[in-house]
Amino acid sequence: MPSDLNRSTPWTLWALVAAFCLSQAAVAAVLIVHGQHRTEREVQDRVIRYIDGAESTLNRTLLSMDLTLAGVVDLLEPAFVSRRVGATSPGDGALPLLDRPRASRILAALNARHLEIQEIVLVDREGAVLAGSSPSAMRLALSLPPGFAAQLAGGVLRELRVSLPQRTEPPTGEPTLLFARGLDLPDGRRVAVVAEVPTALISVLLSGSTMRGHLVATLESEDGRLLASAPPREDLQGRLQPWPEALPALFTTDDGANRLGVDRLEARAAVGRQRALLGRQLVLTVAAPDEDAMAAWHQQRLGILAVAVAFMGMTLGVGLLSRRHLAQRARVQDALDRSQQALDQALGAMADGFVLWGPDDRAVRWNERYVQLYPWLRDGLAAGQTFTELAWVSSRALLPGADDDTRARWVGKRLEMHQRADRTFEQDLGNGRVVHAIERPTPDGGVVGVYRDVTAAERRLAEAKARAEAASEAKSRFLAAMSHEIRTPLNAVLGLNGLLLDSPLTDEQRHRAELIRSSGQLLLTLINDILDVSKIEAGKLALEVVDFDAVLAVREVVSLMQERARDKGLEMVLHLPAEPLPLLRGDPSRLRQVLFNLVGNAVKFTETGGIDVTLAWRHDVQPQAPSKDRVALTLSVADTGIGIPPELLPQIFERFTQADSTTARRYGGSGLGLAISREIVQLMGGEIHARAREGGGSVFTFTLVLDCADTRSPRPEPPSERTLPGLEPEPLPRSLRVLVAEDNAVNQILIQAILDKLGHRSDVVGNGLEVLAQLRQATYDLVLMDVQMPDMDGLAATAEIRRQEAAEGRPRLPVVAMTAHAMAEDRQACLDAGMDDHLSKPVDVEQLAIAIRRVQRRSAQPAPTQG
Ligand code: ADP
Repeated sequence: MPSDLNRSTPWTLWALVAAFCLSQAAVAAVLIVHGQHRTEREVQDRVIRYIDGAESTLNRTLLSMDLTLAGVVDLLEPAFVSRRVGATSPGDGALPLLDRPRASRILAALNARHLEIQEIVLVDREGAVLAGSSPSAMRLALSLPPGFAAQLAGGVLRELRVSLPQRTEPPTGEPTLLFARGLDLPDGRRVAVVAEVPTALISVLLSGSTMRGHLVATLESEDGRLLASAPPREDLQGRLQPWPEALPALFTTDDGANRLGVDRLEARAAVGRQRALLGRQLVLTVAAPDEDAMAAWHQQRLGILAVAVAFMGMTLGVGLLSRRHLAQRARVQDALDRSQQALDQALGAMADGFVLWGPDDRAVRWNERYVQLYPWLRDGLAAGQTFTELAWVSSRALLPGADDDTRARWVGKRLEMHQRADRTFEQDLGNGRVVHAIERPTPDGGVVGVYRDVTAAERRLAEAKARAEAASEAKSRFLAAMSHEIRTPLNAVLGLNGLLLDSPLTDEQRHRAELIRSSGQLLLTLINDILDVSKIEAGKLALEVVDFDAVLAVREVVSLMQERARDKGLEMVLHLPAEPLPLLRGDPSRLRQVLFNLVGNAVKFTETGGIDVTLAWRHDVQPQAPSKDRVALTLSVADTGIGIPPELLPQIFERFTQADSTTARRYGGSGLGLAISREIVQLMGGEIHARAREGGGSVFTFTLVLDCADTRSPRPEPPSERTLPGLEPEPLPRSLRVLVAEDNAVNQILIQAILDKLGHRSDVVGNGLEVLAQLRQATYDLVLMDVQMPDMDGLAATAEIRRQEAAEGRPRLPVVAMTAHAMAEDRQACLDAGMDDHLSKPVDVEQLAIAIRRVQRRSAQPAPTQG
């Protein structure tokens, strides 16, 4: 599924990235909110802690001020002097009088003891100064708010009162607060004692050591006028700033302090608290403005946001990188899948079974064909299965009835073959199927196996071979039949032509009859050559093995050809070895055929000069069989003819090849003679070669190695001496009575004419049955038996004659085959059927005369005695 990854991964990935970013945002939000709350709580705590401290400090100061001022009566006691006796009115000396200068000194001393007090004065209800800590203190009386002194002195206000800020005279001009209290003097007057305190002092008290943390503290009058503040703000002192709501409501919180949303100096948003002091004459306010108190938190918030954004950015980056990586992986996977698919298809399409074993010898891959070849593996074969397991499965399928030991041996052998994995072997699967297996090692230590079903191939091969053999057989049969069919009329043509030539003719008629003879003989040679070639092609050129005299065979050929050479005005000389050649074993007729061909060519291609035929021999000692006598025979035919161009020399032994394309026109021939000669020589274990120069004659040489004949065997009969030059002709044979078996009417006339010419009497019959019948009626010296005849052929008839002779104890009647079947096996078949000799058609006068003489000679010899 190549595209699954592509489709699903980005969604999952981006969902993960989004979830991660969201969670980071959520964490940041929680941190921010939590941080805000914590900071707010801390600010609240700080404000409360501070206001508690400031309240107690101020209360202590006010109390001490109140006590100090209340104690002034007692301090002033020494300043009172006793009044004169007789005074009537209370203010008229009946009571002790205040010694003002003394009182002023006492106040000065008191002032000196209290550093926070700048001046102190005693004023009466009219505002007149009774005594003062210093002469300049008198001005305080002037600064008192109107009615202030009267209120105090009148006893309306006994407790400590605080004035609004005053400004002292220049040069200091600093703002001050007046603290005042009503007193009852011993002389019965109600007076007020007023102390001047710098607002700076109150500011110092307000700021205190906890003033770090950006707090704003104010001390205000009940109606909201600023008396002192920390940080000090002289410009605002005395300013009226109404309370946001009614004052009592402000103090009804749990902790008895007011919660204020703004600071009293700048009216900035803030966390604030308020306390009432001095019987609500004074209001203490402590506030932490948001912008200062939360500044740290704002920074922290920024930090958290930055970290969160950075994290989200990183998450996105990781997401993008992962996306790229995944896309790359998907592409690689896609390519891998495609090649995998291609491989699967290729393996599936293979005509051979395929299997791959991993380095651990476990199955990795195989194709359908493999399990088709080994169907018993189909159910069991799975990736990862070991070769040994499968070998056992195979052993059960291939050796169904075998015991465990046999199977174990089989498995062991199979494993050994598999582990060597360097070989090709064949497996007979027992179901009529043969598998050709090739197992080879792979570089990583595994094994790859290819298995081909060769059953079908073998079958096809065998069928093709059978067809080819049948075709070849048919061709051979056809050629044999054709040659027979051509020979029979040719036989008649040549035979009758021969008779014609023996009759008196005009020169013109004789010339034409001679042409008929030479053309007929050429045609006959051609038929024989084609027959030989077909036999060579079919591998059916059989050789005879008989004892023969090679010198005689060579002489036979030379004497026959000498005539033709003489006709052309050529001289032919036979060179024989000085040392007599032993009898040899082989096929003399084939030897003659080769020599005929070479000498025939020499005569054909030579116009002037001569031809030398040379026979040489030597003993050939075989290292493997030194005791056996063998002879190496060399025959060469040298002429002074037209020669052969060197470039054409290598081709002349090929079939249908002539050195020159004009050869056929000028000299005739088929180009088969040398090819057949070479085949025959090679079949006899020898070799043939040619040396020639263009226009300088040719030398053809062939060599044969032949066994020597057993010396005890009788020497073969010499051929008809009539053909050999220099020998006396034999006396004419006596007249014989011959029975001719021949179904062809023309041939019947011919044979009878020849026999007649040779001086023999003859009767003619048409088939084998007629032969047997005729033999019962008359006695014959010889039967010339055609082989192919209707009703009963020559072979069957001869066999019957021999059977009857044996049964009746009659002497052996010579039977000579006379047939167009010219092949060696045909000749052998004739001899096997009991015939004595074989003449191939067309029969000529000479051949027949020789054969008849041979029969006569044989019958003249005493018959071998049996037993
Ligand atoms: P052909 O029937 O043509 O003679 P061969 O196979 O006997 O066929 O010879 C093949 C060819 O070899 C001839 O056609 C000729 O060209 C050449 N040849 C064979 N023998 C001789 C020779 N003695 N002198 C010159 N040429 C020869």
